[in-house]
Amino acid sequence: MATAAVPGQTCRNFINGEWVPSRSPRSVERRNPADRDELVAVVPLSSAEEARDAVAAARAAFPFWRDTPAPARGRILARTAQLMEQQKDKLARLLTREEGKTLKDSLGEVIKSVRILEYMAGEGTRFGGDTLPSDLPKNFVYTIKQPIGVVGAITPWNFPVSIPVWKIAPAIVAGNTVVLKPSTFTSLTAAAVLELFAQAGLPAGVVNMIVGSGREAGGAIIEHPDVRAISFTGSNTVGAGIYSAGAERMKKCQCEMGGKNPLVVLRDADLDLAADATLFGAFASTGQRCTATSRVIIEEEIADRFVEMVASRARSWKIGNGLDSSVDMGPAVNEQQLETDLRYIELGKQHGRLVLGGARLAGPDYDRGNFVSPTIFDRVAPDSPLAQDEIFGPVLSVVRVRDFDEAVEVANSVRYGLSSSLYSNDAARIFAFIDRIETGITHINSPTVGGEAHLPFGGMKATGVGLREMGHVAVDFYTEVKTVYIDYTGGRRESRAY
Ligand code: NAD
Repeated sequence: MATAAVPGQTCRNFINGEWVPSRSPRSVERRNPADRDELVAVVPLSSAEEARDAVAAARAAFPFWRDTPAPARGRILARTAQLMEQQKDKLARLLTREEGKTLKDSLGEVIKSVRILEYMAGEGTRFGGDTLPSDLPKNFVYTIKQPIGVVGAITPWNFPVSIPVWKIAPAIVAGNTVVLKPSTFTSLTAAAVLELFAQAGLPAGVVNMIVGSGREAGGAIIEHPDVRAISFTGSNTVGAGIYSAGAERMKKCQCEMGGKNPLVVLRDADLDLAADATLFGAFASTGQRCTATSRVIIEEEIADRFVEMVASRARSWKIGNGLDSSVDMGPAVNEQQLETDLRYIELGKQHGRLVLGGARLAGPDYDRGNFVSPTIFDRVAPDSPLAQDEIFGPVLSVVRVRDFDEAVEVANSVRYGLSSSLYSNDAARIFAFIDRIETGITHINSPTVGGEAHLPFGGMKATGVGLREMGHVAVDFYTEVKTVYIDYTGGRRESRAY
């Protein structure tokens, strides 16, 4: 794989097809969150000037790339998909070392990214507009899609392969050029992804990467007048700042942010299925998925039994270094996230009944990492911080309700709206839930987590602004639509009343 992504090395920027060492004297170390003795990468804090160099490279590459036929742009994505498939095990190991998720989760993420690349490759052959009738006589009217120009992509640490891929792939198949600013916690994994695009033959300057702080390197991308659109995934605090900075400069913005995803269990549900889904949704990837299950909303009469079913499953989970294939759940990504988990656990002790976990793990297998036990709180009030705030860790809150109507009300009572699940076999309630739940994705009798390359992904309310990612619609964010009139009357247009 990637010579630019060898564990232990200093990350470089990728500008105009070259791996360039940062000129910045400042850097941060990235250590394996499961074993801080292992240095995974040194990440330079690139300057705003270096970010501007990357934008200049993207700007210079734009005319050639815009004029490259869309099917040919798509074929580069198909080649990138093949290379990623060939190198999936190595990429997954790097991802586990740097982010901490289990190898199984890392491999799942890489394979999903391969599927996104394959799907988006085909968009190159579907990059068309509409032909429509005109009210004007002898006028041929149609629309074409065109790229916007240089696009900034700012990405979080929790899916460091698939989120850069699901932004870069639609952007470049549409003919844009890109500057990526990945999270400092997962910059080496991002470098490995970019190297695959380069190996696939992507021309210099079409995709560039700047590593470093969000405020400085990310800020320089957002403020640059040549950057016409920003696609951001991350926290609400940062997303709100990016959205308003984009608005001031009249840039197109797409911000996908936090979640507080509910899994609703009704009394007629298959409780075994629902318990398996809860376990997987709440604790897989250490609860660090934007679609993680963080609330179970359950009818009172089945709650005692259900909570015990989930807790007994969670007790059998093995926590540890994700490189060990028998491990079910890895560490918190960094010390800051660990502190957040522990702070909410302490709050939970005041706002709910601790059923399981509730502590940092200690001992020879844990002392060098950020390990916290899977934690369940029962009898959490729906308006408490535990049930309202995104924790982004393995902390599950159970909210008990009287009936279906109260369950939907509680499910919708948060500011977020990304994903949700309902466990029930009652057709009327299933369809009522689909109608009323305020989330961009909903699952009936399946976990809250997941997404597929060809299906739109994103949230409502405070979770998402801008168009959805993935699927056919993803390309729309990265395009301008031009309406074309061709008048073949040979005469002057007469003014007419419509
Ligand atoms: P974050 O907001 O801290 O950082 C995200 C990115 O923004 C990083 O690259 C960071 O360096 C950059 N950044 C930080 N400050 C910036 C600034 N002032 N200007 C420009 N860029 C800046 O988020 P995170 O901790 O990396 O990721 C976790 C969050 O991401 C969670 O809230 C999670 O729900 C969310 N997320 C959402 C989705 C979704 O599709 N809705 C998917 C994955 C993650």
